[in-house]
Amino acid sequence: MTAVAGHDELPGLVLQVGAATDTGRVRTLNEDSALAEGGIFVVADGMGGHAAGEVASGIVVDTMRELVARTDLTADDVTRQLVLANQRILTAVDSHPENKGMGTTATGLALVTAGGADHWAVFNVGDSRVYRWIAGTLTQVTVDHSEVQELVEAGVITPDEARVHPARNVVTRSLGTDYASQSDAWVLPPYAGERFVICSDGLTNELTDARLREILQQHPDPQDAAEELVRAAVEAGGRDNVTVVVVNLDGTVGDDLSVTSPRASGDDTAPRGKLSDKE
Ligand code: CA
Repeated sequence: MTAVAGHDELPGLVLQVGAATDTGRVRTLNEDSALAEGGIFVVADGMGGHAAGEVASGIVVDTMRELVARTDLTADDVTRQLVLANQRILTAVDSHPENKGMGTTATGLALVTAGGADHWAVFNVGDSRVYRWIAGTLTQVTVDHSEVQELVEAGVITPDEARVHPARNVVTRSLGTDYASQSDAWVLPPYAGERFVICSDGLTNELTDARLREILQQHPDPQDAAEELVRAAVEAGGRDNVTVVVVNLDGTVGDDLSVTSPRASGDDTAPRGKLSDKE
């Protein structure tokens, strides 16, 4: 298992970050790639034989890394960078035809500016996921672009049946397969004490959401949580590569983050008030 840990201080927000990945018990290559630098967090699950998947997911991470040094990033900048990553993968296929058929998922979150205040931009193409944890409640933010997700939405199968369905690995959207490929995006206000889990389907095909919640509860430290999530998925079968990034936003639940964010001070129009209503 490889792991990276970090503690980044961004303007106004203090983040603690953990990450872990494992090839699993069945695959010989790890075609997942991950990024956790500055305010940019990405998991990409590559597909395509002969290591091509690793090339595609690596292009996503390299392209998204270019955002780390940028200031005043917007959600549009993030989705544009995903369009650029898509184009670069398609170009790489043109110049290396042996990589034909390679593609990748891309999901994650980026710290952006919206309405003059810090926000998260969550993005997704494919069936990797971003989960958000607030005060013990775990919510899946992203919606999978997959055949089984469509069956779940149609009421044909349950989410638990989707995890073991024969078509569970079939994605309906990915980067590197189509010039028109589009990312979904959600803009969320930051919430003190919240945590995010960004993961490939090697995690969620092995562990239920209830198990993810339990492991997060037991491991407040983000590096411990990332390593334990990966370990548990490998132990449960490890039928695929497993990659997890965990991001903790410091603070006590209910803290008003706008006080500590210079860009947000005095901005009463920021949409973050909506979440505070839950208190
Ligand atoms: Ca996978």
